[in-house]
Amino acid sequence: VEVLTGLSVQELEDRLEALGVERWRAKPILHWVYRRGASSFGEMTDLSLALREELPRHFQVLRSSVAESRPGPDGTVKHLVMLPGGDVVETVMIPEEDRRTVCISTQVGCPMRCVFCASGLSGLKRNLEAPEIVEQVLHALRGLGPEGRISNVVVMGIGEPLLNAANLIRALRTLKASWGMGIGYRRITLSTVGVIGQLPELVRQDVTPNLAVSLHAPDDSIRAEVVPTMKNVRIADLVKAAVEYRQATGKEVTFEYVILEGINDEKRHALELGKKLKGKKVKVNVIPFNRVEELPYRAPSTEKVDRFVAALGSCGVPVTVRKRKGDAVSAACGQLRARFTAKAGAG
Ligand code: SAH
Repeated sequence: VEVLTGLSVQELEDRLEALGVERWRAKPILHWVYRRGASSFGEMTDLSLALREELPRHFQVLRSSVAESRPGPDGTVKHLVMLPGGDVVETVMIPEEDRRTVCISTQVGCPMRCVFCASGLSGLKRNLEAPEIVEQVLHALRGLGPEGRISNVVVMGIGEPLLNAANLIRALRTLKASWGMGIGYRRITLSTVGVIGQLPELVRQDVTPNLAVSLHAPDDSIRAEVVPTMKNVRIADLVKAAVEYRQATGKEVTFEYVILEGINDEKRHALELGKKLKGKKVKVNVIPFNRVEELPYRAPSTEKVDRFVAALGSCGVPVTVRKRKGDAVSAACGQLRARFTAKAGAG
């Protein structure tokens, strides 16, 4: 039994043809899945009864399910998605005035061990398959009800997406496709800790979301402290790769900078970063640290954040501070899953 979310429209057409079913039925079936949020053939009321009985013998619509959905304080909804085998990943839907953004995960756990992040606390369990990535957006869509639409996707949940590039690329193609979710690459943002070797592959495959690079430091020695698993990649090379990606794709490039009190929060850090990014046509997204219970790090004061932002801005680098809803997203990254798996005794 194959899962529909793992097939392109051409692949589904081929499978149907082999079963003696007309090829043209593939598109309306996928429309049910990706636009109307159907999770079973039984819901596809314009399919003949015979097909509604026959197709489930060969295909399953989804392979994951929602174990739990929790509304957050600012309209966000966190879905805990149960995968076959019992693994759990987390997806967050963030509503804003004119958009509905879904934050998706790409791995069960994470191997990167950034010192301030909850996702890496227990290491990597496995990569997500392409259908498991796609289905997170579908569960968020289904959570919105029949009139719901997802406008944007951020790949900023649990895991390092570019360590799972093949599955990610397949999933992003489905999210973008007109037979899929129809979410263009300008409305998708991929965040990487700096696995820059994979960026030319994205360009080559013409899968070109906006890019966010998690920098978190103004120099290589602070970065080695904060992102120890990346100490062989120099900031100069990250900046170079990001600029090349922007030039090749025309997409937005942002550097994320989590401010940790007493580590990377001084005005001189901002000025040094500003010097490195000035004139590169990139933005900086400053993220005040979201407290993680198990970790000793602390969030900077509002004054510190304001001073950092002003100093960076004075270098001519466009800078934004992640707002509350975004905070809810990063707060969600890993932390809810950690709590859930502890409670469920899984993971
Ligand atoms: N592995 C990818 C995606 C991770 S999550 C990456 O590193 O970019 C998206 C962002 O949230 C990253 O910039 C990550 O560093 C940040 N983040 C993780 N934990 C955080 C926390 N406790 N507080 C604030 N930001 C956090």
